[in-house]
Amino acid sequence: MKQKIVIIGGVAAGPKITAKLLRTTDFDCSIDLYTDEDVISYSACGLPYYIEGVIPEAEKLIVRRPQQFEQQGASIHLNKKCIKILPEEHKILVQDTITSEIKEVEYDKLAITTGARPIIPSIKNINLKNIFTIRTIKDGIAIRNKMLESKHAVILGGGYIGIELLEAFHANHLHTVMIEREPHILSLFDPEISDMIKEQILAMANVNNENNVEIITSDAVAAFEGNEKVEKVITKSGRVIETDLVIIAAGIRPNTEIAAEAGIELGVSNAIRVNNRMQTSVKDIYAAGDCTENFHLVSRNYVWIPLGSTANKQGRCAAVNITGKYDAFPGILGSAVTKFDKLSISLTGLTETEAKKFGFDVITSTMTKKDKAGYMPDAADITLKLVVDKRFKKILGAQAFGGGDADKRVNTVASAILAEQTIDEFLHLDMTYAPPFSTAVDPLLSAALLISNQIYK
Ligand SMILES: Cc1cc2nc3c(=O)[nH]c(=O)nc-3n(C[C@H](O)[C@H](O)[C@H](O)COP(=O)(O)OP(=O)(O)OC[C@H]3O[C@@H](n4cnc5c(N)ncnc54)[C@H](O)[C@@H]3O)c2cc1C
Repeated sequence: MKQKIVIIGGVAAGPKITAKLLRTTDFDCSIDLYTDEDVISYSACGLPYYIEGVIPEAEKLIVRRPQQFEQQGASIHLNKKCIKILPEEHKILVQDTITSEIKEVEYDKLAITTGARPIIPSIKNINLKNIFTIRTIKDGIAIRNKMLESKHAVILGGGYIGIELLEAFHANHLHTVMIEREPHILSLFDPEISDMIKEQILAMANVNNENNVEIITSDAVAAFEGNEKVEKVITKSGRVIETDLVIIAAGIRPNTEIAAEAGIELGVSNAIRVNNRMQTSVKDIYAAGDCTENFHLVSRNYVWIPLGSTANKQGRCAAVNITGKYDAFPGILGSAVTKFDKLSISLTGLTETEAKKFGFDVITSTMTKKDKAGYMPDAADITLKLVVDKRFKKILGAQAFGGGDADKRVNTVASAILAEQTIDEFLHLDMTYAPPFSTAVDPLLSAALLISNQIYK
């Protein structure tokens, strides 16, 4: 019998479910995707590079258009917001965001992929013009347009999105001030690693003593000032910073209100709790992407680490299970990568801080080495930190940054963690070597040797 599949949300996880269902030839279903936006299937991850100008048009960030899905048999409903889920009746209520008309939609299986939205801190005059958050293509276009006529910018928040916008504004010659209320930017990293990254960013950005980039930590924004448009940012310590635009990149929260109202169980950070088949606590309702919590494969705890890479994998898994077949999403390591100019920044698994919080007794090693043979003209320093469990000698995590491929090393560690390798096994990893790519003993293996030397003194 033909099944009615309804999907709420259309950026990464929703379109992934749609695409996988469309490819499943032995499952008879109708597919209806509802989104409150006027576009679907785009790369939010690419927005900083569109703003920077690396990608010439925002259109290029669109992976698939509604027409492409519709030609294959799915129905895409733009500008339609789901305002209620009625699990008992297997229905949702959908409101047209233009006409306000409300319609009932029946489902046999429902997938919630409503993602997340930026946190807006309560700061005086936050509603002034030219104060932006970044999540959607519309946000990206508005920010780029304003950036092109600006000389000064302030970024509130020192996370990876803040760093990517810092790169974009710096590349477009704006004087940019980043304000982070915590003592360190990139709080996902160990503090000393964050500080080293901060120093490198400042050194790279201000190479000609231009002081084009400033990073303020341990200070928060107290108020914005201006006449209709933002003109000044006032910090709690009393700094007054003149600006043409402000980016609020102070974190995100999951869009789970309609799920909670429907009685669906929430978990960490109010994200939807799902099992490894992406099923929620309510029958016939699945969830995937940024609106769900994740099982961390090293700490064995539930966490909320919303990432596009995870959203896509979870979407595929949800689709397979919706068709009645079996697929399991085991969990995540939180592997992530970002960059500032030529500096790549990456991590996987647990940091030392997190590992200790979860009760591990750890050994760590941090080492800086050239990323390729020192005589190669583009050889650059790369710094790696490895975190290893003292008792079982298992690798728990890695952080890396530098001029070379930080993510190449971190991805190698991610595989080792999944394979539950000990540091002894890891040392024998047969990594590639040629002078333009690595050193004869890759910096990652050198960091592992430092750990080994601590164990076998
Ligand atoms: C600037 C930026 C850079 C990023 N860079 C990276 C990166 O480099 N690597 C990485 O892994 N991740 C990155 N991310 C994160 C990544 O974009 C997200 O993890 C991914 O978009 C999550 O997809 P999703 O489909 O779960 O949710 P979302 O992208 O949040 O999409 C959810 C959609 O559902 C819609 N919706 C919500 N509620 C309703 C409702 N009630 N009815 C109808 N529609 C609704 C929303 O409007 C939205 O369109 C970045 C994000 C941003 C903003």
